[in-house]
Amino acid sequence: MNRFVVVGAGPAGLTLALQLARAGHHVALVEASRQFSRQFRGDALMPCGQEAIARMGLSALLERLPQRPLEGWSVWVNKRQLFAVSEPMQSLQPCRLVQQRLLLEALLEEAVQEPLLQWHPGVAVRGLRRRGERISGVELAGGGCLEGDLVLGCDGRQSLLRREAGIQLLERGQGLELLWFELPDPLPADLDGGFSTHLAGGAIGSACVGASGNLQLAWLLERGEATPQRSREQWAQALAGLLPPQLANLVRQRCGELQGPLKVSVQVGLARSWRQPGLLLLGDAAHPMSPVRAQGINLALRDSLVAAHWLGRAKTDQLDAAAAAVERQRLPEIRRMQALQSAEARQGHLIGHSPLLRATLSRTAAIAGPLAKQVWMARQGPMREGLAEAIPSARITP
Ligand SMILES: Cc1cc2nc3c(=O)[nH]c(=O)nc-3n(C[C@H](O)[C@H](O)[C@H](O)COP(=O)(O)OP(=O)(O)OC[C@H]3O[C@@H](n4cnc5c(N)ncnc54)[C@H](O)[C@@H]3O)c2cc1C
Repeated sequence: MNRFVVVGAGPAGLTLALQLARAGHHVALVEASRQFSRQFRGDALMPCGQEAIARMGLSALLERLPQRPLEGWSVWVNKRQLFAVSEPMQSLQPCRLVQQRLLLEALLEEAVQEPLLQWHPGVAVRGLRRRGERISGVELAGGGCLEGDLVLGCDGRQSLLRREAGIQLLERGQGLELLWFELPDPLPADLDGGFSTHLAGGAIGSACVGASGNLQLAWLLERGEATPQRSREQWAQALAGLLPPQLANLVRQRCGELQGPLKVSVQVGLARSWRQPGLLLLGDAAHPMSPVRAQGINLALRDSLVAAHWLGRAKTDQLDAAAAAVERQRLPEIRRMQALQSAEARQGHLIGHSPLLRATLSRTAAIAGPLAKQVWMARQGPMREGLAEAIPSARITP
């Protein structure tokens, strides 16, 4: 029998399965999909995510991947720059852009070499198995099952395991819908290589040259708001109405190549509990994150590091206690990051939907900009670096 059954090979599940197999445990890793090329997985690795990868002993793997440092962050109101901040801000490392597909493929290449790891690609889990009160494994969609001492639910924001276990998701914030557009490479060489947020004409959006070299554009909708029915030309015009001149001209000129919109619904939440006897939820399954300031991958990696630390050294009869230790150690950081993401979203919503506030901010950008930058910067430290004691250090012993 497996010691661990890991469901989902996203950043949380794949790194956890790899660490546990390397620590000498039998691990079954089950993934519904056969490929990693899903579009909405985000490219940004914050210093705290890079630190987790380093602590897993996977720095060399990360260095081998094509990547580029993010150049900085900026906020624009009514097409005027309110403030801009260059990377790496106060961190030692800049935020890096790495295609998540490439990262996951490289991790998988390492994982399949581990003799104790069984890889089950293209296999969806359809339910939980129980022995008495205890979860003892998972049922597979094609028939059959996998038994284990502990099931690790790393199956993302819509987690089937969370629902099957009857664990409630406490919704945080209002949630939102995101329309995603891309303009393919090649882009002008002098295009800003940072992440910019834009608030104009009652609309909110963002622009960033992703790790693949494509320009990624996001357009925010209220939760439940229907996608406006617009032709590609009309969308290019709408985006140009939100963006400053260089980006606006680019989108207009290359309107024929604009891909999208693709709608992504985002509900932020926190599972009431991350565990039941025989089960531990991690990553988005335990705490679906907002895309604000790129937290999800980083926190999923940090969950995985902490889980490997506690679970890897627990005896069979200590696994539930070890799962409790994981939840205890990770909760403060998750709560803090979700609160910071919500604060940032609320502020953006307020400015984005108040014409008077926008007009005032853009008129007084020379004075208001540095103040807004100060408020913004105060939030970024923890979101980049994470919280002290949130991942294992020499001081934490099992
Ligand atoms: C538009 C957008 C942009 C984002 N940008 C960023 C960013 O730049 N930086 C960042 O840090 N975060 C970003 N995020 C968030 C980030 O993508 C997620 O938080 C992160 O991927 C969570 O990792 P995970 O391993 O918990 O889950 P996931 O990455 O969702 O992986 C879950 C895996 O489980 C599999 N699965 C699901 N159900 C089953 C089943 N029944 N059986 C078997 N397998 C199953 C899925 O196929 C999937 O591979 C963004 C999110 C969105 C929506």
